[in-house]
Amino acid sequence: CGIVGYVGPKDCSDVLVSALTKLEYRGYDSAGIAVFGKNGIETVKTKGKLKNLVDKMAVEGKPEGHVGIGHTRWATHGEPSDVNSHPHSGARVTIVHNGIIENYIELKEFLTSKGRTFLSDTDTEVVAQLLDYKYNGNPLETIDSVMAELKGSFALGIMFKDFPDRIFAVRRESPLIVGVADGETFIASDVPAILKYTKNYYLLDHDEIATLTADGVSFVDEHLDPIEKELKVADWDM
Ligand code: GLU
Repeated sequence: CGIVGYVGPKDCSDVLVSALTKLEYRGYDSAGIAVFGKNGIETVKTKGKLKNLVDKMAVEGKPEGHVGIGHTRWATHGEPSDVNSHPHSGARVTIVHNGIIENYIELKEFLTSKGRTFLSDTDTEVVAQLLDYKYNGNPLETIDSVMAELKGSFALGIMFKDFPDRIFAVRRESPLIVGVADGETFIASDVPAILKYTKNYYLLDHDEIATLTADGVSFVDEHLDPIEKELKVADWDM
């Protein structure tokens, strides 16, 4: 299972698939991407291998854009299927998730009582819907407030419809790194995913939130205070 994300001048769909290929060793049963395209956030996802995703995009069209997130899924809640594949969305937010939300049933019951309906059987869609439910126009505040309600493990890549120039990342227990290069930024579950593009990366710590644009990355802690992080340089080749 793996997460990737990209903001920059390259064809985002191509970068996401290429980066996910480097995470195949982690194992997975489904794959998907979401990219800010001409018609807002465009999602393509499917059960099966990355090849199935590439074939599907060849038939249905590949999302064209420069900002997006991608996922390979190792199903924990909900069988492997097209609908349970990531990304998952609420009305104004789209996410990919690795990990397990232990209290997703309580959260799902709460959201259902507020009239929300669900398309999938995943714990992840509950996070997408909760982000949308709590969205107040400020992505960092919204993510922070959702994070405070989550129990379990997660690495999340997040896109808000209102912010088409950026992606957000946050993690607890599950791994996530943030890569930087000239004019482009990345997220990934592990360094090999981005080595083709850059050796420079940051390790995201528990409950830290990263904001990525083409110009660079900024970090805040769980109190939303800005933090400086140490840039690491991978000393290995592909
Ligand atoms: N728990 C989530 C699901 O079953 C994420 C699984 C993963 O880490 O890929 O969809």
